Amino acid sequence: MCAANLDQLSASQIAAGVAAGDFTAVEVARAALDAVEQRDGEVQAFLQVSADLAIAAAEATDAARAAGRPLGPLAGVPVAFKDNMNLVGTRTTCASRMLEGYESPYTATCVQRLLDAGATPVGKTNMDEFAFGSSTESSAFHPTYNPWDTTRVPGGSSGGSAAAVAAGEVTVALGSDTGGSIRQPASLCGVVGMKPTYGAVSRYGVVAFGSSLDQVGPFGRRVEDVALAMNALVAAGRDPYDSTSQDCPVDFLEHLEDPVEGRTVGVVPQLLEAEGLSREERTAIQQATVALEAQGARVVEVELPNIASAIAAYYVIAPCEAFSNLARFDGVRYGYQEPGCSTLAEQTSLSRAHGFGEEAKRRQMLGAYLLSSGVYDKYYYPAQQVRTLITADYVRAYEKCDVILLPATPRTAFRFGEISDPTEMYASDMFTISNNIAGNGGISVPMGVGAESGLPVSVQLQGPAFKDRSLLTFARAIERSCSAEGVVAPAFAGKGGELQ
Ligand code: GLN
Repeated sequence: MCAANLDQLSASQIAAGVAAGDFTAVEVARAALDAVEQRDGEVQAFLQVSADLAIAAAEATDAARAAGRPLGPLAGVPVAFKDNMNLVGTRTTCASRMLEGYESPYTATCVQRLLDAGATPVGKTNMDEFAFGSSTESSAFHPTYNPWDTTRVPGGSSGGSAAAVAAGEVTVALGSDTGGSIRQPASLCGVVGMKPTYGAVSRYGVVAFGSSLDQVGPFGRRVEDVALAMNALVAAGRDPYDSTSQDCPVDFLEHLEDPVEGRTVGVVPQLLEAEGLSREERTAIQQATVALEAQGARVVEVELPNIASAIAAYYVIAPCEAFSNLARFDGVRYGYQEPGCSTLAEQTSLSRAHGFGEEAKRRQMLGAYLLSSGVYDKYYYPAQQVRTLITADYVRAYEKCDVILLPATPRTAFRFGEISDPTEMYASDMFTISNNIAGNGGISVPMGVGAESGLPVSVQLQGPAFKDRSLLTFARAIERSCSAEGVVAPAFAGKGGELQ
């Protein structure tokens, strides 16, 4: 292959090029590290760059090739991991002072599976502290800047992973999505981001936020890259270390190019009237609808009558689970320990007061209150009932359609500091949260840039549990006709990362 920039290549082109000997995995790793060097000063997607691990993994890939051993489907592909995922040899901080300097004691299953497929680990990416947020502004260390416009946020909480892919620093990145944290930043950064069905991907080794909602998934600049990463994540079957993990014996690439002719797409008219949905995001839905119809898909209207209660239910259930999960950060078992305290109570209280940022404290106080006696029955119990209703709404909707097409986010990327009211920030996930509540899969698909804002716009597809392959097929159909596949944010394309 002739000289190219790494950011132009798909994951499968990189793996094929390494396997064919067009370039070595070490050359790819160096190109990725060079791209990070040239671009990340402005984007700040990374909390830690793991250059030594990247080169060592790439050398192992090249040695395997030299020895004639078969290479994995992600051979040499540069990947990044959200900093709530453990990887031995790196710190896992969750972008919190609480875990500053915390060395990963073992490697998360999702990370290991990408490495087993031959991927090259470039580093750990920035996030909202403990994954609470939609802008990456609550990272204790620094913000991440949207590669399309560095005066704007990349979304969150997996903002670093989305930005690293959008800026062409890595080909694939992993994020976690509890209420929208893969799909919303993917949308704001103009990349593909998938939240698989709950249980499809192991959560072992990923720092827990809301255990009944959390799910790991990939970002890529192409639907195909996301499908390839999904294959690597599920190929080894269920993970015995995560009791909610299930076998997902699916080849996500196999039906990627299937026609959508004769298949059915649901739209929810009520959602397109939602207050706060921008004109550009609404237009994107119309364009995707037209594109799918032109490819022979049937569009039908479906109802999700209880979806308006999803945010309220989520902001009861998620803080309760977060409060219980984050109790372990007490400065003794885990986390920052305040020095010079004379009693355990003082130490616990000051360690938590100084270790956690504002939003992390807000969530935990909310959770503590909601779970307290007398309050629990008033909020937690009804929230779980709403959860059942929303799940049932989806089951009924999917009797009429294969997938649902809806916005991923109400609007394009906002400016730093623009949203200061927490409840307004919570509304960023108005189109994504219901899917976590129901446990289903969803994907956000770029639709190019908006005519007014010049910023990435997108649509979202949601599907029934464990029908994630259909999501990719429909996403590919949209990509084929509506978005320029593989686009890197223009200001960063080709900056470093030359592959000879
Ligand atoms: N923005 C939502 C929240 O702040 C979702 C976060 C996530 O998915 N991790 O809770």
